[in-house]
Amino acid sequence: MSNALAYEKKTVYEKAGKETVAEAYEYAKGYARFLDAAKTEREAVCEAISMAEAKGYRPYSFGMPMKAGDKFYYNNRDKNIYLFSIGTEDINEGIRITAAHIDSPRLDLKQVPLYEDAGMCYLKTHYYGGIRKYQWLATPLALHGVVIKEDGTAVKITVGEDESDPVLYITDLLPHLAGGDAEKSLSKAFSAEKLNILIGSKPLDGEDKDAVKAGVLRYLNDTYGIVEEDLLSAELSIVPAGKARDAGLDRSMICAYGHDDRVCAYPSITAMIDADEKKHTTMCILVDKEETGSDGVTGMQSALITDIITEIAKALGGNEATVRAHSKCLSSDVAATFDPNYADVFERRNSALIGCGVAMCKYTGSRGKSGTSDASAELVAWVRRCLNQAGVVWQTCELGKVDVGGGGTVAKYMANHNIDTIDIGVSVLSMHAPYELISKVDLYEAYRAFYAFYRF
Ligand code: MN
Ligand code: MN
Repeated sequence: MSNALAYEKKTVYEKAGKETVAEAYEYAKGYARFLDAAKTEREAVCEAISMAEAKGYRPYSFGMPMKAGDKFYYNNRDKNIYLFSIGTEDINEGIRITAAHIDSPRLDLKQVPLYEDAGMCYLKTHYYGGIRKYQWLATPLALHGVVIKEDGTAVKITVGEDESDPVLYITDLLPHLAGGDAEKSLSKAFSAEKLNILIGSKPLDGEDKDAVKAGVLRYLNDTYGIVEEDLLSAELSIVPAGKARDAGLDRSMICAYGHDDRVCAYPSITAMIDADEKKHTTMCILVDKEETGSDGVTGMQSALITDIITEIAKALGGNEATVRAHSKCLSSDVAATFDPNYADVFERRNSALIGCGVAMCKYTGSRGKSGTSDASAELVAWVRRCLNQAGVVWQTCELGKVDVGGGGTVAKYMANHNIDTIDIGVSVLSMHAPYELISKVDLYEAYRAFYAFYRF
């Protein structure tokens, strides 16, 4: 029985109709291409720059004059980017901001990674972000990153993505010898120091000590012109090899590495560059280091956000404090989709359900809302009005049952600058796994939500 007074969550399929679903499937194709091109934050910044430049965005440097209609991007060290577009209204009315992160959980190489043992050459890793370690074993892996030589020259490396490329691999124990693991806890059975990447087993002719490693060094020198010490000034990451794929017989989902948080980064940047002719000044932030706490020069806690807002306020004759006080931010990050296989850790009424649209999270944190900025009811009502007027299908959610776990996003760092901020994004199954799953219609509602927000 449906009661006109009662709130009822509905799917995009029920509420938005066939045309929107068809648009969502089409939009998802562009997203899949973005995923394949942007597996690291550096690659995502490259993609964002080419998307933005194609729509008339120009590089910004501090002190540049600006006027209504101007579109800029600020490339922060190739790992974080700010796009902003100057609107026609008074800058003291504030800026419409979305903030998504473009780093994803992965395995980074240690600074001295190479070693040989038992006739095999390996790379030592230090995992980045929250991973379940066993998920990275016995699966094809790729190497992405950059080596900066002593003279400052950058050497880009990508191995494992082309069909003809070799892949990298972490071995796992055979079940025949893994009987002892049954009694161990997950953290004891799978240790971080065993996440060593196997990269070779062929000795170099004429070498008698560490001949396999010598062969690898010879290959690296022939192919990239680098020596072992160059690896000390490098950022090389191990990510799952392979492309994004449609998932489900109905192709309603996408299986890919790094949905968290490219599934929000892509709709925020596409909405930003599509929502042209704007009244409001708008900003799209794609940020690094969210998975490790948002610290550092390319993370959301960097002073850069206030520097840029201050510069915009100054250039347009506004007051920076007023601009921040009147700005609104959608912290666009992923939520957890309710998973009936693990229903015991979710509270169903307050979980994101697949296909029910973009998911709004008033507060994050854990154990008594610890560490959350908790958006105001006024802001929730404002966003509700914005989304409903645009016909966006949306839902609210929390991350799992109270006291079971929790998590955070960049929302609180934005809110700490006196900017009204709320989390809203796409919900994900198997979050932080090498391959995560999202629903195409949820992805598209995120795009529609951000587009509406920039213009509302
Ligand atoms: Mn995230
Ligand atoms: Mn995450």
